[in-house]
Amino acid sequence: MTSYTYYVIDRDGMNRPRKVHVKSFGCQMNVYDSHRMADTLAPDGYVETAHPAEADLVILNTCHIREKAVDKVYSEIGRIREMKDAAEAEGRRMVIAVAGCVAQAEGQEIIRRTDSVDLVVGSQNYHRLPGLVARARDGEKIVDTEFPLEDKFDALAQPSPQAIAKRGVSSFVTVQEGCDKFCTFCVVPYTRGAEVSRPVVKIVADVERLAASGVREISLIGQNVNAYHGLGPDGAPQTLGQLLRRLSDVPGIARLRYMTSHPRDMLNGMCDDLIAAHGDLPALMPYVHLPVQSGSDRILAAMNRKHTRKEYLEAIARLRAARPDLAFTSDFIVGFPGETEEDFRGTLALAEEVNFAMAYTFMYSTRPGTPAAALEDQVPETEKSERLQRLQAVITRQWRAFNASFVGQTMDILVEKPGKLAGQLVGRSPYLQSVHLMAQPALIGSIVKVAITDVGTNTLFGALAETTRAPALATVGA
Ligand code: SAM
Ligand code: SF4
Repeated sequence: MTSYTYYVIDRDGMNRPRKVHVKSFGCQMNVYDSHRMADTLAPDGYVETAHPAEADLVILNTCHIREKAVDKVYSEIGRIREMKDAAEAEGRRMVIAVAGCVAQAEGQEIIRRTDSVDLVVGSQNYHRLPGLVARARDGEKIVDTEFPLEDKFDALAQPSPQAIAKRGVSSFVTVQEGCDKFCTFCVVPYTRGAEVSRPVVKIVADVERLAASGVREISLIGQNVNAYHGLGPDGAPQTLGQLLRRLSDVPGIARLRYMTSHPRDMLNGMCDDLIAAHGDLPALMPYVHLPVQSGSDRILAAMNRKHTRKEYLEAIARLRAARPDLAFTSDFIVGFPGETEEDFRGTLALAEEVNFAMAYTFMYSTRPGTPAAALEDQVPETEKSERLQRLQAVITRQWRAFNASFVGQTMDILVEKPGKLAGQLVGRSPYLQSVHLMAQPALIGSIVKVAITDVGTNTLFGALAETTRAPALATVGA
């Protein structure tokens, strides 16, 4: 492919490459998409910058999941607008683009609400960014939120080896997008569209490319990743379990993860081999995110989650039977319309029964256009807030106990990057805990045994127990 580098000519006549700043809000799908947007703009000469004020193009990759998330986006647009005005006062043009789920949901409304935004691009159209940005630079106001016929993933540029190396030894790979579940509180089926699984060969090619540039850990991501049913090389659909087995053969890949899973799909037969894979695939990390939302059957039915509390606990039990050291994380919503104190106590009881390693807890947020928004018995904000605190107290106690249980143990740590202190390295445990240790930077990219000596608020501290577990990885990052 021919590649051109475009330069911006400053008012003082100096040439310089164009700079793009991409800011991600919300979930890991957006983090992944932000990288792919930067990759797609790179052949047009756009170099990533961490500083929005010096950028020629600022892309806000937005989240629409809760009202607060949307408010954050508009306040960020206000902040960037001041930088745009300052750039224009210096004779420099800054294009502001809004991408992601707010773009998809609000479209034209964004440009109507704030005239500083030049481009609104929906989550299925990132491959069109170079052309759209060029038109926006020429002064056009553009909204592109169609769901196109072409496959975005085929059209997006691949990251360069340098870009991969810069992003570190752990990487996300989207394997599935969209959602057909239509939980009554959730905007995702409307903003991300129908559930689509990518073919196995394309995912394998992505993972091989990442591994060749030093990536050691892959997290397969999607809104309902355990509903994965992408076509295999023989044209027949494959399950997530089969995909994980195939990826565990990619040279250099030492760790595999997946998120987010839906409890219903864990039990409907399509995940039998995924559950089995937890028992016999050493690369598959023993850490599963399985959102439950509520511990009350009445509320689960009103949420259209299509599983009961008993079925959720059964999914946990089957996974634990396959791999006893599995730890679970979850998502909870408190104060869904009609939730009584008794329903909420069911949620607290479920949390106690499962004993989570960590969980995200949210107050129900009314999302216009979703079925739950029309329900009459909305729970008062004060009640929601009080329930949130009670649930958080339980989860925090469990999370602290989980972390403290590793003091005195030896864990396999994937060393990721230098720490803030001289001689310090930061790595990740199988349970995604951040682990600090003192060691040589040559170990970045290796899996090392670390004796855990102490625990902080969010971090474990330890010392190298022996060098590396897998000799093939010992030279990585050296
Ligand atoms: N697909 C995943 C699942 O089925 O659980 C979750 C996707 S969603 C991006 C992440 C989390 O946001 C959900 O699990 C839910 O807890 C939370 N969430 C979604 N809509 C919400 C709403 N209207 N109010 C509060 N929390 C919400
Ligand atoms: Fe939203 Fe439910 Fe789909 Fe998860 S499964 S993305 S919560 S609609």
